[in-house]
Amino acid sequence: MDKLNTRFPPSPTGYLHVGGARTALFGFVMARKTGGQFVLRIEDTDRARHDESAVDKIIEDLNWLGITWDQGPDIGGENAPYRQSERLHVYCQYVQKLLAAGKAYYAFDTPEELDAMRTSAQKAKQNFRYPRPNPLPTVEDAERARDEGRPVVVRFLCPGQDVTICDDAFGDVTMPADQTDDFIIQKGDMYPTYHLANVIDDALMGVNYIMRGQEFLGQSWRHKLLREAMGFDEPGYCHLPLIMDVQGRKLSKRDGDVEVFAFRQAGYLPEAMINYLALLGWNPGNDIERFSMAELIELFTPERVGKTNAKFDRDKLLAFNTDAIAAASEDRLLEAFKDYLSINETPIPSDDDDLLRRILRANKGFRTFADIIAKSGILFDADAVIEYEPKAVKKWLAKGDGAGWVMLAELRGRLDDCEWTVEAIDQLIADICQQHDIGMGKVAQPIRVAVTGRAVSPSIGETLTFLGKEQTLLRIENCMAARPNER
Ligand code: GLU
Repeated sequence: MDKLNTRFPPSPTGYLHVGGARTALFGFVMARKTGGQFVLRIEDTDRARHDESAVDKIIEDLNWLGITWDQGPDIGGENAPYRQSERLHVYCQYVQKLLAAGKAYYAFDTPEELDAMRTSAQKAKQNFRYPRPNPLPTVEDAERARDEGRPVVVRFLCPGQDVTICDDAFGDVTMPADQTDDFIIQKGDMYPTYHLANVIDDALMGVNYIMRGQEFLGQSWRHKLLREAMGFDEPGYCHLPLIMDVQGRKLSKRDGDVEVFAFRQAGYLPEAMINYLALLGWNPGNDIERFSMAELIELFTPERVGKTNAKFDRDKLLAFNTDAIAAASEDRLLEAFKDYLSINETPIPSDDDDLLRRILRANKGFRTFADIIAKSGILFDADAVIEYEPKAVKKWLAKGDGAGWVMLAELRGRLDDCEWTVEAIDQLIADICQQHDIGMGKVAQPIRVAVTGRAVSPSIGETLTFLGKEQTLLRIENCMAARPNER
């Protein structure tokens, strides 16, 4: 396979979306697979939507996912700068060349005039196509218009022919001549439009394979014509199918997180995200579903990118995460757990590796790091206000004429004398079970409810050692004093 140079050119408007992450991933994989370059370029020419902090966020999210680049705004490279706002002079040069060659022309319609043209086309049930003036305006006309305060833009002079794109996923896609028109390449503020800047940068940065969302497929004719007009080579294309929610609607925030950072914050592993994202619109065949980044690079071929919409299934992603956690080494989990703690406010101290390892072990079977907090966070929060679950209180304390309360009182006394290790606590509980000839639950559950408010927590020995003796006894006393809603 030839070396394919790919790129990820986000417009910095916020956090990285899962759709953007998938695009970045595929571009990265393709470059790594073929030994080409992967370029990160910031397309920040839309000043109205620009959010400067978004660049750092996107870089951080990509780093977290393990997607790296060979050229980019943070590391530089032979084609720097990698922010379009720093390349305006380059685009201006090309605009001038296109104007001089008669392949572009000035236009100075006001938004109201354009609206009126669109409305009358609509009324006539015609597609709106910008009416090219004849003769074309001169530089003097443009200057006069600017003096009059009109917006002066530059439009591409569209040759008016069918344009066919050869796409590795969608095949040959043709835009008929009558649907092409003289689109804008330079805006009134002298900034290039997305089309112009994107095409120039891809060419100058040596990009020869373009992977991006299907939503850009309908724009590619413009890019092909611009390339021809500027004498650039045509790259290969692979448009990636749209990502929908499970109901087949456009994926949106309405039914949950869509940003990569939100999944990181919710306690997902990047390796599970990568694995799942790769399957959005692609599959390796042979029913293979689980793979690492290295395996993905090995397995990936654009021929297996599909045309049908992909489905973002949150349950499936959670299942992938659960499996990835089960398969990960403790060292890996420790590293990822510390990352999770570093970006979340939790009562769990993040600087004690031995404690964190114990917490990971005590919570085996967790699906996300957030599960650990839900189940064990309360044990590390000295000021926790315990909310006793009525069902748990009823079942484990109140039932049988308050047998649990009686047990709690006995435990309060006996725990006081107990050595505070998992083994000693477990032994004490076993002894009590034997003396009363009752099952574990009748002893362990009352304490569990007393110290956490719930019937679920790590093993009782772990639960109480995580808490410490003082907190355990205090919480038992508080519970006894509260004797919450028993009936
Ligand atoms: N800046 C565009 C975007 O953010 C890039 C589209 C492309 O890949 O050509 O979506």
